[in-house]
Amino acid sequence: MTGFAAYIGIEIVEDQEPSYIIMKKLHKFFIPIELFLLFVIVCRYMEDRLMDKLTHVTAEYFKEQEKAPLVPVNAKAAEQEEVKKVALTFDDGPNACYTEELLDGLAVKEVKATFFLIGKKVDESPEIVKRIFEEGHLIGNHSYDHVNLNEMSEEKACEQIHKTNEAIKNVTGMIPEYLRPPFGSFKKNLDSDMNMIEVLWDVDPRDWSVKNTGKVVNRVVTNVQDGDIILLHDEYATSVAAAMEIIDILKSQGYEFVTVDELIFE
Ligand SMILES: [Zn+2]
Repeated sequence: MTGFAAYIGIEIVEDQEPSYIIMKKLHKFFIPIELFLLFVIVCRYMEDRLMDKLTHVTAEYFKEQEKAPLVPVNAKAAEQEEVKKVALTFDDGPNACYTEELLDGLAVKEVKATFFLIGKKVDESPEIVKRIFEEGHLIGNHSYDHVNLNEMSEEKACEQIHKTNEAIKNVTGMIPEYLRPPFGSFKKNLDSDMNMIEVLWDVDPRDWSVKNTGKVVNRVVTNVQDGDIILLHDEYATSVAAAMEIIDILKSQGYEFVTVDELIFE
């Protein structure tokens, strides 16, 4: 004991000091070591507790991540619900004055529309029809002379449709599948006889009559619903201007513009 005490620098006079005093002196020496050991034990304990806590929190986090899809289901469903579709259709073209202006506007706004063309005008302005086709719009048949098909013989009505299909095919190489009878007046069984699909409309702002951009826009945007087909005529500057405003307003309301085939076959 005294050897060790001497080694650690404690002076012990063994003859004069009882052993408890010696122990006390030695204990003084060991206090910092005990405190250090205590500190290490506490640190280890705290570390264990912290690691436990961290492991638990991390496990919980990953468990939650597994449970939660990347896009919450409700948000995804809401997003799908919000996609409303609408189709702009333009009758009576191609028009030498306004159809190209309309095509320019549709291109800028990246909207595809459907054009129901009059066969006679197709023969007069094939270059405009070519542009309609090449820019990805859908082309339909609106008879050759814009006549009421219901007021003529079956043979004459078929001729009106056939001649228009041929005129369009001469320009685009494609026979139209869709037919819009002038005045919405359809002859019974003519669509099946001609193997065509009849397309009418849901929203008619009577743009040809009112010829007022603001009124046409207002009539359309206040009546339109998801899945509707809008009837306009690329025969008037007011209708072309209205179409541009309608696109902006309905797009801001979450509408997507499609061609009629997308609405019919959905
Ligand atoms: Zn028409």
